[in-house]
Amino acid sequence: MKEMIYQTVCPGCNIGCGLYIRENEEGALTVDFMKSSSANLGKLCRFGMKLPHHYSKATSMVDGKEADIDAAVKAASDKLKGTRNVTMLAVGATTNEEHLGFTKIADALGTVVNTGIGAYEEIPSECHPSISQGIPLDDIENAGRIALFIDPYVQYPLLVRRLLAAKKNGATIVSLTCCDLNLADENVSINPADYKTELGLDSNSIIITDVNPHSDAEQVKNLLNLALVTGSKIMFMKPFVNSTGVHLLGKSAGQIGLHDIMDGINDGSIKTLVTLNSDLLELMPNTADAAETLEKLDDLVVITSIDGPVNEMATIVIATEPLYAKAGSFMNVEGQVLNNSGESTVGIDAMSTLSQNLGGEAFDFQAMHSKMMESVVRKFTAPKYSELECKVMETAAPAENSGNLISVYNPFMWCNQTDDNDFVIVNMNMVDKLGLQKGGMISLTSDAGSVNMRYTVRDIPDGLILTMKKLPVVTGNTTEVKAEAV
Ligand code: SF4
Repeated sequence: MKEMIYQTVCPGCNIGCGLYIRENEEGALTVDFMKSSSANLGKLCRFGMKLPHHYSKATSMVDGKEADIDAAVKAASDKLKGTRNVTMLAVGATTNEEHLGFTKIADALGTVVNTGIGAYEEIPSECHPSISQGIPLDDIENAGRIALFIDPYVQYPLLVRRLLAAKKNGATIVSLTCCDLNLADENVSINPADYKTELGLDSNSIIITDVNPHSDAEQVKNLLNLALVTGSKIMFMKPFVNSTGVHLLGKSAGQIGLHDIMDGINDGSIKTLVTLNSDLLELMPNTADAAETLEKLDDLVVITSIDGPVNEMATIVIATEPLYAKAGSFMNVEGQVLNNSGESTVGIDAMSTLSQNLGGEAFDFQAMHSKMMESVVRKFTAPKYSELECKVMETAAPAENSGNLISVYNPFMWCNQTDDNDFVIVNMNMVDKLGLQKGGMISLTSDAGSVNMRYTVRDIPDGLILTMKKLPVVTGNTTEVKAEAV
């Protein structure tokens, strides 16, 4: 094989940073910068720089034995034919075209594709486009005031340069995150009921938050309301490379979130699950709990380009080509369609065969690409911010933090990749209270187990511990842990 160079997009989050992947004759990968990419101008965060580690190639399997892709598709067809109550999940970690192919399989099975974000279920559908569509990243640089509900350094790193540019242009930044942010002019903690009066937002302001599978619907509503009553723009960042595309392509009615899927498996109402590049062992807060739940399925059919941990549990794995090699497109958080230079259609072709075997439509890449252009690009691509279409909603109080250990979701955590940031964050009061020693460890114990971690000190509220890594003691967004010095 000669060396190949692919123009592609980082799958770490929905900013959609452009880059090149170089694959040498032995199959080894390296990353090259793409200065012409408007989303990131050639820059990448730590996750983007470590992408070669992320692209572990999947192998097709049937009942735990290696198989070729045709045999895996046939086995999946035999399993799914006539099966009722199939649940399908695709969070947006692959191309628009593959997602559309997956929806054709859902049509054949008489179901919908769930994108896994439970908050959508509780928010009126007229608000969904406002959550799905973002604003041009350049608009951030021209805002007068920015309210940050996410930690850009940890969660969406390429936002930082936009925020610094905004400050240079005269913006003030107010942060409502757990950690005080150096780039913020004000770091505050405000009750949602007081956002409108205390944040000083107006039509020249931008609210930046995110929506992910573990988001609290009440907080999403609160922030939409805040945008409506202040006239501010609002930007929902999202964790998966094609989160925006799949929300615009999908049928929002009848969708359920990841937590409902896991509940359905636990109560026996979901027996068969089909996933597309969506590994529940990585996506759920506690891997061991998620594995215990997935064991209860009769059949788990995994269509994926990654050699993820869930593949070992699957009844059938249909292995597709690596994301960088696929023909296809993604839609980033600002509504830009970004195209891969790859030309491989292994995944689409496998899904077409599966669809036909189930009595559904045949399709090819070109048909899916044309449909995507028609149904998404012409309707939704946002060269400028669109006014919110929803009305102010009734809200309840956001869910109380029920624990002292807070998970700060970030690209490494969503993909369960190792990272150098192998520590938790505490404040000086906790160091003194627990008697933590310089260079020592902190022991964390919850109902799920124990772990010893290195720690670093930052200015965070008393009593809290932040983790940017998936820990075995974690049971949700927040977890009650007992902390001790080791
Ligand atoms: S993880 Fe997000 S911010 Fe980092 S390089 Fe990838 S797309 Fe860009």
